[in-house]
Order: sequence, then structure tokens, then C-alpha cells
Amino acid sequence: RDDAPLISVTGLTVDRSRRRVLESIDLSVHAGEFVAIVGANGAGKTTLLQAIAGVRRPPRGTVVVDGLDVHRADARTLSSRIGFVFQNPEHQFVSHTVFDELAHGLRLRRVPEPEVQERVADLLGRFGLEERAQTHPFLLSGGEKRRLSVGTALVAGATLLALDEPTFGQDRARADELLGLLRRLNADGTTILIVTHDMQLVTEHADRTVVLAEGRMLRAGPTAEVFADDELVERAGLRPP
Ligand code: ATP
Repeated sequence: RDDAPLISVTGLTVDRSRRRVLESIDLSVHAGEFVAIVGANGAGKTTLLQAIAGVRRPPRGTVVVDGLDVHRADARTLSSRIGFVFQNPEHQFVSHTVFDELAHGLRLRRVPEPEVQERVADLLGRFGLEERAQTHPFLLSGGEKRRLSVGTALVAGATLLALDEPTFGQDRARADELLGLLRRLNADGTTILIVTHDMQLVTEHADRTVVLAEGRMLRAGPTAEVFADDELVERAGLRPP
């Protein structure tokens, strides 16, 4: 059905080191949305993103993405549905060249080499990395590293991209460059879920904003409505741009 959500989170509860850090989260996200998860430090944003992406298994609750129970799916199936970009993307890199980094996920899947070459060439172009194909991933600029991490997250065909603080430590110009890329992916149908403290990013780009405080969801609504609610903004410790 058309109106079925892409992501359904039901009764999600997560503990870390025996501390409850998320309590009974219910959330739906539709295909094609650009959604921001915000809240003060320690509110549980990263934990929620990890649980949705299947990185972290919760003691209670379910996450269904595109009909798939993410906590029962094997890693390969998961990565064909959800691309996850960690806060420090260089920690994900496993290859000696940008080209091989993008090819890695395809070769693991035994995609025939001529097709690998073709698909990687296409990705290099889409992510503005053609000139860097033979460079070691660690030698890329911060912005190039982020773009490469987005490319590797999507190489297996995922249509949901989950990013943890993608603009952290970047100046406005570099952040906006990455956001331009995310907007193009979103326009092409990729659903975007972002954890961030960057309120300019949220108010300019997110259709909907999910507000967490101390492990609970205070609100999930259209971004403009969330930021028009002074009491909510104050309570969640958000700083409007
Ligand atoms: P930030 O904005 O600071 O990144 P966040 O909203 O993303 O915060 P989480 O990183 O999800 O919050 O953390 C939620 C809670 O889990 C916090 O209270 C934090 O102290 C706790 N926590 C984080 N990492 C661990 C860990 N490795 N072990 C135990 N508890 C943790």
C-alpha cells in the first residue's frame, strides 16, 4: 500500500550498560521523507538511529523497514535496505583506494567485475570523487570522506540513509555541500534520517523533526511546527538558528 510507512518503530526500549536510555518509542517515517532527530546531549538520538538501522538490538520493541524486521535480518539483507553513516566515517574505511572502497560491498556480493567497474564509475561521478578514485581514503579531505561514506552506505542499493551528525566539525560551506548531495539523493527517492545538533540544517532541510529528551519522544511533527513551539524548544534544549 502506498500510505504504509517505510519505517515503523513500535514500543522501542533500549538499555545501555543496564541504564534505560530509550523508553517506549513509537515512530513512523514515510518513504521519501527527510527527517531530523534532535535533542540535548545524551537524549538518546544516536541510540535511536542505531536501533532503527539494526546496528543495535533492543530488549523490547520492533523496527520494521520496508517490511523487514531489522533485528531479525542478516547483515547483507540489512545493508541492501539501510545505509548507515557513522559520526566518524573514516572508521568505516577498509580499502586502500577510493575505488576499491566503493567496490568492496559489490565484490562481497559477488557482483561480476565488469558491472562493479560500471557501478563504481557511476558512483564516483555522483559523489564528485572521479579525480580521487586511486587515492587512499584516509588522504581525502573531510568533505570527500563524508561523501565517500555516503557512497559506500548506498552501494548495495539501500533506499534509506541514516546519518549520525553528518555535518559535525565542518564549516558552513562544507556542511552545505554535503547537504546539497543529501538533497539530491532525497529528490531521487532516498529517505533520509539524520541525527544532528545543527539547527540550521534541521530548519532548512528536514520535512519533519523528532524531538527526544531523556530517552523519551516529546514530539514528531512538521519542522516549522516544532520550532514554533517555544516551550518545546526550551524543554528539549534546542537552540533555534
Ligand atoms: P549526543 O548528542 O551527546 O551524541 P545522544 O542524544 O546521541 O547524545 P546517546 O549517545 O544516544 O545520546 O546516549 C544516550 C544515553 O546513553 C546517554 O545518557 C549516554 O550517557 C548513554 N551512553 C552513551 N554511550 C554509552 C555507553 N557506551 N555505555 C553506556 N551508556 C552510554
